[in-house]
Amino acid sequence: MTKRITLLGSTGSIGTQSLDVIRAQGYEVFGLSANRNADLLLRQIAEFHPKVVAVTDPAAAARVKSELDGMASPPRLLEGPQGLTELAAMPGAEILLNAVVGIAGLASSLAAVESGKDLALANKESLVTGGALVTEAVRRKGVHLLPVDSEHSAIFQCLQDPHSAKKLTKILLTASGGPFFGKTAEELKNVTAADALHHPNWSMGSKITIDSASLMNKGLELIEAVWLFGLPAEKVQIIVQRQSIIHSMVQFADHSILAQLGVPDMRIPIQYALTWPDRVEGPAPELDFATLGTLTFDLPDEETFCCLAAAKRAIALGGLVPTAVNGANEKAVELFLKGKIGFLDIGRFAQMAVDRFADATGSFTLEDVFACDAQARRMVEESV
Ligand code: NDP
Ligand code: MG
Repeated sequence: MTKRITLLGSTGSIGTQSLDVIRAQGYEVFGLSANRNADLLLRQIAEFHPKVVAVTDPAAAARVKSELDGMASPPRLLEGPQGLTELAAMPGAEILLNAVVGIAGLASSLAAVESGKDLALANKESLVTGGALVTEAVRRKGVHLLPVDSEHSAIFQCLQDPHSAKKLTKILLTASGGPFFGKTAEELKNVTAADALHHPNWSMGSKITIDSASLMNKGLELIEAVWLFGLPAEKVQIIVQRQSIIHSMVQFADHSILAQLGVPDMRIPIQYALTWPDRVEGPAPELDFATLGTLTFDLPDEETFCCLAAAKRAIALGGLVPTAVNGANEKAVELFLKGKIGFLDIGRFAQMAVDRFADATGSFTLEDVFACDAQARRMVEESV
């Protein structure tokens, strides 16, 4: 059955892999979005013929506009962050895949759900910052929230039997450990962005690659798991699985455990989110047990990688505290990538955000989320 999809963040790592899946399945593309990469978006327009595109960066939008003017039947162009949200809300697609990076994806996740679309979510920051708002809207609108993040897809796949799912008692969230696994704080003092961008198992966008090196990614994923699967954070245990073959596991009341395995290839979880509840052939290779060798298991070092500890404290406090940690982290990662702060400063700012915003608990609106995000970013800027 053909599906009509709007794909936000189509020029990114998840975006381009999603288009591999869409191409292989022959799905129809209603909308695409980019921030800066006008050239790639133009090539995607030529191949997938979307009806609407959204470009957030003004210079890139101007460039796309000038190219579309000469085209025979060009897509409609929407501009700026409002254009992204408008595209997310437009009828014409039944499913929206959100592969934007950062809190910039939150408003469009909400707009997609409010317009009655199923939401295939790679943008974990939507749940970290607006988990209460997104999950409430999903319930109210009766739509499906389909995880794309590999660990959460694994958990979701292990919970397809509704009888067992009711008896879920623990989630074993696996982590690769990133490029700095086993290193001491002393050894991490002078690591550079180039060192941190060298992930052992996955090729991803720069922000999530730094998050994987600092273990903030696992902290964000812990919060994401709490919102997706409804277990308290204490029931989500993080296990380092260096080979990234076991993508996560679930434990039931009888202490039986189910795991989902496969090669580290994001096209598997992307495809599952788009074909669910069905499974079909896809472009990812099969796992070869003959050459696999050993699978190892370790615990993370939360003292050195204190981003993870900060995320745990944030979700325990609740309210806007996870938003503050996320905002501080987004700013810190941006500064680290520019060589303006050290690697260990990222964790220091995450901890500072929890301390500074520890009273911001309780219920909140979308406006409160954006205000808190701005404050947390300012806190980092003013401390550099
Ligand atoms: P990339 O940086 O590769 O891509 C990000 C996408 O978002 C690009 O299309 C980019 O546009 C767009 N974008 C960037 N900033 C903005 C903005 N301010 N407003 C609107 N659009 C913007 O990231 P990834 O694909 O790696 O990650 C995307 C999301 O998926 C993240 O939330 C990440 O945590 C999650 N994820 C990623 C995985 C991976 O393997 N990469 C695995 C699991 C989850 P442009 O390039 O045109 O500037
Ligand atoms: Mg993940």
